[in-house]
Amino acid sequence: MNFLEERILKDGVVKPGNVLKVESFLNHQMDITLMDQMADEFKRRFSGKPINKVLTIEASGIGIACSVARVFQVPMIFAKKSKSINIDGDMYVAEVESFTHKNTNQVIVSKKFLSPDDHVLIIDDFLANGCALNGLISIVEASGATVEGLGIAIEKGFQNGGKILREKGYHLESLAIVDAMDAETSSIQFREQENA
Ligand code: 5GP
Repeated sequence: MNFLEERILKDGVVKPGNVLKVESFLNHQMDITLMDQMADEFKRRFSGKPINKVLTIEASGIGIACSVARVFQVPMIFAKKSKSINIDGDMYVAEVESFTHKNTNQVIVSKKFLSPDDHVLIIDDFLANGCALNGLISIVEASGATVEGLGIAIEKGFQNGGKILREKGYHLESLAIVDAMDAETSSIQFREQENA
């Protein structure tokens, strides 16, 4: 079991509706040493890739993405949630349905910050159905930049986002993959990973 899996078992709370709460160390109160440990692990798993930018989505991806950007020594960009319907041509836009809030947001990234020369590592805290990652991928691809990899802290492997993205050929690395969880018994089962 790796350091993140251990922490999830210790401090994660399984809620009804397939939601794993990790607000004491990842989503609300943040353990920065853990963020740095995750960043080092992403650096190892994506070594050799010509990554020059890290991209995430506000708000909960930002903390991890900052640590990742520091170890890769590259800038971090976060896609902003925007309610504005008058988005001008200077922005890349994607529609992202929120798994936790059950609403849809437009997310935007300024065209100034992504171009065809860029090699992007996309980072997020959770992967469930893949809406957030697909939105970020569509922004990177619209800019002509290359998606070098997808780095996720916690993938819920019983939802199909990860499976579809791997089948599409993206290099997806999730530090912990939850294959099953049960709110009644508070049990969490992780997938064995070769490179963990
Ligand atoms: P997806 O877009 O893949 O369906 O869901 C991923 C997004 O929803 C993440 O950005 C994350 O913020 C949120 N999310 C999905 N599942 C969970 C969960 O079980 N717990 C928490 N805390 N956030 C989740």
